[in-house]
Amino acid sequence: MFGFLKGLGVTLSQLPRKKVTLQYPDVRPEWPERFRGVHRFIPELCIVCHQCARICPTSCISLSGTRDENRKMRIDTFDINFDICILCDLCTEVCPTEAILMSDTFELADYTRDSMYLDMHWLYENQLRYERAHPDRVTRPAGGEQAGEA
Ligand code: SF4
Ligand code: SF4
Repeated sequence: MFGFLKGLGVTLSQLPRKKVTLQYPDVRPEWPERFRGVHRFIPELCIVCHQCARICPTSCISLSGTRDENRKMRIDTFDINFDICILCDLCTEVCPTEAILMSDTFELADYTRDSMYLDMHWLYENQLRYERAHPDRVTRPAGGEQAGEA
């Protein structure tokens, strides 16, 4: 009996407290700026140096590029296999131009593994979504000549 009353007391003491759980997915979490979610990518900043692919511990980045008329390397394809990406952040750490960055996107669950292969266009769309959601965090000017985090 004492144990029951003790347990009931603990339960009642929690009732007036502020709730820490969210009614996800109706209420979505606000992740901190350094949250390591699915990448975003800015194609015009990529110099095709392959550093991200080389450092990736799971070899889940594949990319290709060609030289343009000014002999600058331009990215043609950039794919990440999120089936095996461990969101370790190493690729964004080594990128010299901040072309690849982490975002707060975290929902990739699906019924097929094929949907885990995300290409340059999806990753750029994720960049645009991130810019819309967090204009205070992104200082990339219109036209995308340079990028930087606020
Ligand atoms: S976060 Fe880590 S595992 Fe994922 S692509 Fe980047 S380096 Fe590879
Ligand atoms: S994303 Fe960054 S590290 Fe990867 S190839 Fe492009 S410039 Fe190099």
